This record gives sequence, C-alpha cells and structure tokens, in this order.
Amino acid sequence: MSEIFNFSAGPATLPKPVLIQAAQEMLDWHGSGESVMEMSHRAKHYSQIHAQAKQDLSDLLNLPPNYEIVFLPGGATVQFTMLPLNLAAQGQSIDFLTTGHWSEKAIKAARAMQYTTNEVATSIESGYATIPTRSSWQCDSNAAYLHLCLNETIHGVELFETPDCGEVPLVADASSTWLSREIDVTRFGILYGGAQKNIGPAGLTILIVRSDLLARQADPHTPGVMNLAVQVKADSMINTPPTYSIYIAGLVFQWLKTQGGISAIEAINKEKASALYRAIDQSSFYQNPVQAPYRSRMNVPFSLADESRTQAFLDGAEQIGLRNLKGHRAVGGMRASIYNAMPLQGVETLIEYMKEFERHC
Ligand SMILES: *Cc1c(COP(=O)(O)O)cnc(C)c1O
Repeated sequence: MSEIFNFSAGPATLPKPVLIQAAQEMLDWHGSGESVMEMSHRAKHYSQIHAQAKQDLSDLLNLPPNYEIVFLPGGATVQFTMLPLNLAAQGQSIDFLTTGHWSEKAIKAARAMQYTTNEVATSIESGYATIPTRSSWQCDSNAAYLHLCLNETIHGVELFETPDCGEVPLVADASSTWLSREIDVTRFGILYGGAQKNIGPAGLTILIVRSDLLARQADPHTPGVMNLAVQVKADSMINTPPTYSIYIAGLVFQWLKTQGGISAIEAINKEKASALYRAIDQSSFYQNPVQAPYRSRMNVPFSLADESRTQAFLDGAEQIGLRNLKGHRAVGGMRASIYNAMPLQGVETLIEYMKEFERHC
C-alpha cells in the first residue's frame, strides 16, 4: 500500500506528528492518568492545555495585546450567524462582499435574521472566478462592519490584500486560510474560522477579536453563549468548550512553531500551490477558471477539458492513495485542498499522476 494523501477540503488532513502524539497521550496525558477527553474543563490539567493553546496561537499570529482569542463550539456558520447580534446596533446596516459560496451564506444568514444588509460588490457574474476590485465596492461608511471571506474554500478564490475600509471594522471568515500565510491581524476587527480546515478537528471555532468591539453590546437580547463579551470574560468557558478539539489545535500550533512558524509554512504553501497551478496551466487537458491574482493557495479546483473522464480520473487517483479529490457538488470536477499539513510530496505525487493520466488518455 502506497502512502495516502488526503486532499479533503474539511475535515482535512492533520500533521502526522500531531496524530502520533495524540495517540501516545490518548490514555494518559502527561502522567495525569486521564485522557484529555475525560478531564473537567475547570480542572488544573485542562486549564494548562487551554492556556498553552492560547499562548501558542498568540505567538504564531504575533497578536497585539488589544486582541482576544475565543474558542467556541459550532463552526464558522454559527459565527457568521451570531456576529450581527454582537456588532450591529438596531437598524444599523451591515456591509458584505460576496466572492463565493461562503460569503453568500453569511449575507443570507444576516438577511434571515432581518438585518439590513448592503452587498458592497459581488463577483457572481464571473462564476466567482475573480474578486471585485476595491474601487468598485459601494461601501457604507456607517455600516456596523464589513464582512468578507478571505478564502472561498469551494470556488478556490483567495483575497491576499487586505482592503482599506476606513473606520468600518473588517470581519473576515478565515476558516480555510488562516495560519497558511502571514496576515496583519491589526487590519481586522475580527478574524474567525472553523478549525477543521487548517487547524484541527471539527467542532471548534476560533475568533480573534479586537477588544473595543466587545463594548458594543449591539443587541441586548443576545444570549450569553452567543455574546462575545460574555465569552471573553469567561475565557470561552461559559459552558463546556470543545476541550479535545482545543487540545489537538494546541498540538497543531506547537507543530507549526517547530516548522518555523507561519512565514516558513507560507513559503512551502507557495511552492505547493504554484507547482500545482503550473501543472494545470501547462496542459490544455486540465483547467482552473480563477484569475491568477486570486487563485487560492489552499483549495485548487480544476476540471478536465473532457469532463466525461472525471470519474476515471478520480478512480485512478483513489487507487494510488490520492484521496478525496472530488470537487464540491456546486462546482463539479476536482478540488485539491493543500492545507499546511499536506506535504510537498503529496502535491508532487498528484502532479505526477495528472501527467500520467493525460498520457494514457
Ligand atoms: C467550511 C467553511 C465554513 C463552514 O464551516 P462550518 O464549520 O461547517 O460551519 C465557512 N466558511 C468557510 C470559508 C469554510 O471553509
């Protein structure tokens, strides 16, 4: 059996050394005689794990002191649903940039809760193959915040430059890109995302929140569990946090540090993505529709010029251990998700297979 490379978009591949360490510590964490899963979230051992995970994430992001880290259950969907409650005053409009599936979901969630929304721009007419240029955005200077998605996991579109929106805080869904490249946190009011793409197991969402936003208390009826100020005050423990997911995320943060931090992993991510896009562009057999400056480094959708061969491509890939390359049903074709934990060797093996498949067609 050859080595398995898992290209799933999420839950996604995790670093091998992290899984090995978690296996070794499964029954007995550091001589405590307990599995992390069995620990009370209020007890000393778990408190240590929780605090260390926060510290390591803060180090990795170079987090300034006026930002808080919040660990919550529920996924990015819960976050883009509860953020309006925390940030928009009654009657205040929220700006949204629509660049693909996930930013569409975010504006829909706000509309479903009867918030006033302003879509500053959308790239839907391009089939989400680009990002509208900043000069075309119709921003509202009184908006509660501007929501955008830094990397559209399904469409493979990534926003590398942080837009300037004056005083309106930027709130970004970073689920599938954070910790893959250096991001200037100070440009954002909130960065949030689910862990299951590039950080750890499903069930955990992480938020980086600029402290002044916690004073907004936008909707007085916001329940405590959904109130960011309350959660920050309780160190994300107003109720039981997803302890095991936080523990694994903490191991991933430590692994990232041993890799040389974010700048080092970013260099490898650039190498992986450019090799894969080069292979796609060098052949008329494969195609990717996204405009070059916006091509995602984490999720690479591609299709065959002859779509009738798609299933044969996927079957052959499975046979040699290249797993979960099937594209999202909204887009079709293939998608290779190449997060931090995907080694360069996995991408090289995929490229070799692509060349071989083309030769035999
Ligand atoms: C996966 C994903 C989501 C949804 O995450 P859930 O944890 O399923 O709620 C939202 N935004 C982006 C960018 C994603 O990749």
